[in-house]
Amino acid sequence: MEIFRLPALSDNYIFLLYDSASQTAAVVDPAQPEPVLQQLEQLGATLTAIFNTHHHADHVGGNRRLLQQFPEAMVYGGAADQGRIPGQRYFLGEGDTVTFAGREAQVYFVPGHTRAHIAYYFPPMETEGWGELFCGDTLFAGGCGRLFEGTPEQMVISLNKLRSLPDKTRIWCAHEYTLNNLKFALTVDGDNEDLKQRLAEVQAARQRDQATVPSVLGVEKRTNPFLRWDQPALQAAAKIADPVRTFARIRGMKDQF
Ligand code: ZN
Ligand code: FE
Repeated sequence: MEIFRLPALSDNYIFLLYDSASQTAAVVDPAQPEPVLQQLEQLGATLTAIFNTHHHADHVGGNRRLLQQFPEAMVYGGAADQGRIPGQRYFLGEGDTVTFAGREAQVYFVPGHTRAHIAYYFPPMETEGWGELFCGDTLFAGGCGRLFEGTPEQMVISLNKLRSLPDKTRIWCAHEYTLNNLKFALTVDGDNEDLKQRLAEVQAARQRDQATVPSVLGVEKRTNPFLRWDQPALQAAAKIADPVRTFARIRGMKDQF
């Protein structure tokens, strides 16, 4: 399975999964149809699946047009997104699995950004290999999604599920927000040397116009303030020694940043 990262809209990424053996492809959160159709044509591939993480327009905007071209494609999304994702045929929840290119992905129910949000996790093919996590707008490189339809408590439970995955997991999040996220992170975790180093690397990458997605979960655990609600430094910044309230306070500060 090969993964292509396709930029879309102003700062979205669409991920196209390609199986060369069968010349089939699946797409995660097609914000727009055009980049997907172009890539499919270049590969000579047939689209067999659309994996949606949640119903927002910048994640499902390409569904209808792609289905016109590939009516057989299966559309997957969260069970609670029924009626909100164009063409949805499968209604997934925690513990469900989906397959593509002979690989099975586990589905995690991760409400918080929306009440129906799900994530798809492909475990590594061999020991020491990489896992691939498609997490939409739940976990970002250096940040997390805004709480539109969920509570801080739900989001902490959701992020904790993702935090429990192996360090060698690539984080395929749906937006290029990393630089801004890390600038904020430094305001609440200023003594974190790993964070300072990461910010410098990301600044350099963005100056060269390079993408910072996918990121690596091991790095996120050390530098992402929204995975660090139980760290003393973050609790000090939030002025509260409680994980959920620390998360809530820091999320609130980011909303104002
Ligand atoms: Zn969203
Ligand atoms: Fe989004």
